[in-house]
Amino acid sequence: MTESSRPTWCDIDLAALERNYRAIEHVVGESKMMPVIKADAYGHGLIQIGSRLQDIGAPRLAVAYVEEGLALRAGGITIPIQVLGGAVTRQIPSFLEHDLTFTAPSVDKLLQIDQAAKDTKTTAKVHLKIDTGMERIGVHHYNADTLFEASLKCTSLQVEGVFSHFASADDPDLSSARQQLERFLQALEFYPRHSLPTPTRHIANSAAIVSLPEAHLDLVRPGLLLYGIEPTEETSQTISVEPVLSWRSEVIYFKVVREGSPVGYGGTWTPDRSTRIVTIPVGYADGYRRGLSNRAQVIINGNRHNVVGRVCMDQTMIDIGATSAYNGDQVVLVGSDGNDTITIGDLAQWSDTVPYEVLTSITMRVPRRWHP
Ligand SMILES: *Cc1c(COP(=O)(O)O)cnc(C)c1O
Repeated sequence: MTESSRPTWCDIDLAALERNYRAIEHVVGESKMMPVIKADAYGHGLIQIGSRLQDIGAPRLAVAYVEEGLALRAGGITIPIQVLGGAVTRQIPSFLEHDLTFTAPSVDKLLQIDQAAKDTKTTAKVHLKIDTGMERIGVHHYNADTLFEASLKCTSLQVEGVFSHFASADDPDLSSARQQLERFLQALEFYPRHSLPTPTRHIANSAAIVSLPEAHLDLVRPGLLLYGIEPTEETSQTISVEPVLSWRSEVIYFKVVREGSPVGYGGTWTPDRSTRIVTIPVGYADGYRRGLSNRAQVIINGNRHNVVGRVCMDQTMIDIGATSAYNGDQVVLVGSDGNDTITIGDLAQWSDTVPYEVLTSITMRVPRRWHP
């Protein structure tokens, strides 16, 4: 028995990933691409996604944590990798040893990076982080000069880039995103004002790639869009991407449940007529969230059916009514069957969350099958 014999799995379509990459590349024109593959490439597999992107010519990659960068290096990825998140002091040597690109979100950290690079006789690659309205990491745009000036005094690091991050680029009202962009560009005037070359500028996430072309600048940072999921409703008109991940299971049990017999923990659903219930081997410990209880649908043999009762840790019950389904029949949790499709966005809606959380919630217990 291998792990992949499990009757619940995700298919990852790497050719679709490549098409999405090309579609985004086309839309951003002159801007360079920096695919964001943090959190196990949004559940799609860090090394597999990173390798494919490297193979198809991505100039660089981005992750959130240094550990993710180290895993990519160990997996044979040699292109530049930027760690977008903050790092604690003890992590600095790992960056230098494995040629990972720093994010410097404060003068303090910048100086620490410079000193560590000096001590090891290396040159640190750094992107300066400016906060233009997210109030997360980064120096406030109105204090950006202090970070820029400090960086000019550093001798063992190279400022490759300056970047910021949008808080609300997925909002139909883009006024706050525009304001952030304006603040960013204003801060960057430091460079021409001092007759210095401007480092690589980047601010656009998926939503901004779609709805704010003036924010593409020198480099874009697509995450969600790369995996074929649209961050806003209007996306499809501008750029056409397709889902990379699908999620399937199989019927493992069939029974007839009598009228009035409650189904599952807490008995939250009771049929008002005799009905057929099938059980599938997937639950919230796989990332099929408990919030989907009595709300989600699946597709079996081309027909939509409701998830009934509470999603259990390892099992979920489906009401197939008067239709038939047999042990081993395929069950689509996310993906297409015939003309019908269930998307990650549907799951997000049914469980009151965002597609990001649905994708990154699919646990390691669910085997991934990568298709070239
Ligand atoms: C996660 C992340 C991105 C990618 O965001 P998407 O909405 O998935 O495109 C870009 N930039 C930063 C700083 C991030 O943390």
